[in-house]
Amino acid sequence: MKNLLEGTVVALYDELRAQNPELCGCDNCRTDVVAYALNAARPRYSGGTDVGQALISVDLQRDQTRAALAVIVMDAMKRVAVNPRHK
Ligand SMILES: [Zn+2]
Repeated sequence: MKNLLEGTVVALYDELRAQNPELCGCDNCRTDVVAYALNAARPRYSGGTDVGQALISVDLQRDQTRAALAVIVMDAMKRVAVNPRHK
């Protein structure tokens, strides 16, 4: 379950990074953004049964779901940019 969501979050991060080159994209910030976004999004994908996984997989293909996740990832990018773990 986590890997499915993580793959989508990382893909969205890469897309949004390309559109916002002014935000830091170093490994530290990237890891922080992905971790923050996964924590923020995870409650929407609770449940670990096979059926649940199949539903999540389908759900992640939907534009609506990806759009909602993109908002979460963008928010995470802004939060990390304001307060990075490095100078
Ligand atoms: Zn950075």
